[in-house]
Amino acid sequence: MNVEKIMQKLEQKNPGEVEFLQAVREVLESIEEVVNENPQFEAANIIERITEPDRIFTFKVQWVDDKGNVHVNRGYRVQFNNAIGPYKGGLRFHPSVTLSILKFLGFEQIFKNSLTTLPMGGAKGGSDFDPKGKSNAEIMRFCQAFMLELWKHIGADVDVPAGDIGVGGREIGFLYGMFKKLAGEHNGVLTGKGRNWGGSLVRPEATGFGNVFFAQEMLKTRGQSFAGKTVAISGFGNVAWGAAIKATQLGAKVLTISGPDGYIYDPDGISGEKIDYMLELRASNNDVVKPYSYEFPNAQFHQGKKPWEVKVDIALPCATQNELNGSDAKTLVANGCICVSEGANMPCTPEAMEVFLENKILYAPGKASNAGGVGTSGLEQSQNAMKLSWSEKEVEEKLHQIMVNIHESCVKYGKEEDGFVNYVKGANIAGFMKVANAMLDQGVF
Ligand code: GLU
Repeated sequence: MNVEKIMQKLEQKNPGEVEFLQAVREVLESIEEVVNENPQFEAANIIERITEPDRIFTFKVQWVDDKGNVHVNRGYRVQFNNAIGPYKGGLRFHPSVTLSILKFLGFEQIFKNSLTTLPMGGAKGGSDFDPKGKSNAEIMRFCQAFMLELWKHIGADVDVPAGDIGVGGREIGFLYGMFKKLAGEHNGVLTGKGRNWGGSLVRPEATGFGNVFFAQEMLKTRGQSFAGKTVAISGFGNVAWGAAIKATQLGAKVLTISGPDGYIYDPDGISGEKIDYMLELRASNNDVVKPYSYEFPNAQFHQGKKPWEVKVDIALPCATQNELNGSDAKTLVANGCICVSEGANMPCTPEAMEVFLENKILYAPGKASNAGGVGTSGLEQSQNAMKLSWSEKEVEEKLHQIMVNIHESCVKYGKEEDGFVNYVKGANIAGFMKVANAMLDQGVF
C-alpha cells in the first residue's frame, strides 16, 4: 500500500475536505504496515472501500425564530460504515459544521466504535445551526425541524444518533420527542436520553469519565496516578464536565476550562459547585466562560488564550478539532506535562501529535480515549433492548472495563521495541483490523 498515492486519489475525490483528509492520513500512516502484511485487504480493496461513506444525506432545515423570522440551515447524516453493527455516532450543531467535518468525525467513529468492542458501525451528523444566543423555544423548533427529515433514515437497528458539540440532553429530548411523534413508537433510537425515558445513568458524564479512566491506565504504565497532579482541561461542555468530576474524584486539581472567548485559570481547583456551574454556563446558550470569573473571583479569565500555556502535569483537550497545535504542544512538554489524553475528536494537530510522540510522553488519540461516550451509548442501547435499566455502579463499572480493554488493545498493537506505547498506532490498527476483517467476511455488495 502506498499512502501518498492513496491520499492523492482521495484529495482529487474529496477536494478541499481538509479535516477529512487529515483524519484519513493519520489512520493510513498507522495501518500501512499491517495492510502490507495482510495482502487479503488489498485484494478486496478495503482501503478504498473504508474511506468512502456508505451514503450521505443532506437536507434543508427550515424553522421560525421567536420574532417570526424564517431561517434555513443545512442538515446532514453521514452513514459511513456498518460492517460491525448499525450506524452509530453523534449529531453536532455548530456554525463550523461542513461535510468535511462530519466526514472526518464519521470516519473516526468507525474505528472508535470498533475499539469499544460493542457492535456499532460509524456515522455522524449535524447542522450548521448556531445554538448561541437562541432561546429554548428556538432550539426546540430547530430540533423538531431537523428530525422531521432525519427520522426517515434512522432506526434502533439501522442508525442510532446521539449528542456531540451543541447537542446535549436538552436537544436529545426535543429530537426524541419529535421522532416518537413521527414514527409512532418508543424504540430508543437516540442515545443520551433522559433517565426517565430510556436514558442510561452515567451517559452524560461518560465521555469525560472514560477519558480520565483511559489516562489513568496510561499513567499506571509509568507507575503514576491522578493523585496530587494538576490538570488543564479545555472546553466546558459535555466532555469537560465529566472529565473535571472524575479527575477531581481521583485526587487531581483541575486548573482550567475554556470557551471560544478564552480560558479560566482557577488556582483553587475546579471542583464541587464550580463543576455544577459549568452546566449552567452551557445551558445559558452563550458559549462563553468569562462569567465564571465573576462567580468565583479567585479565578482569572484570559481572553482569547488557550489553557495550554498553564504549567500542568496532565492535559485533557475536550473542546474541538485542531485546538492544540505544535507550538502549544511544545509549551506543554517544556512545562513538564507527562500525559495528554484527548476528550474531543482530533483536538491535536498532526504537528502537536508529532511533538508528543517524539518526546515519548503519554499521548492518547480521541478515538481511544474519548470512546467512553459512545461506549456508554452502546450500554444504553443494550438496556433499551432488554427493557431494563442498570444501576449507576453497574454502568460505571462497565464503562471502566471498556476503557481498560481499549487501553489493552492499544498496547497490544502500539508497543514499540523500547517499550514506548504509540497509542495512535495502537488505536488505529486495533480499530481497523476488526472492521476490515468484518468487511472481508461479508463480501462485496
Ligand atoms: N459524539 C460522541 C462521540 O464523538 C458520542 C457518540 C454517540 O454516543 O453515539 O463519540
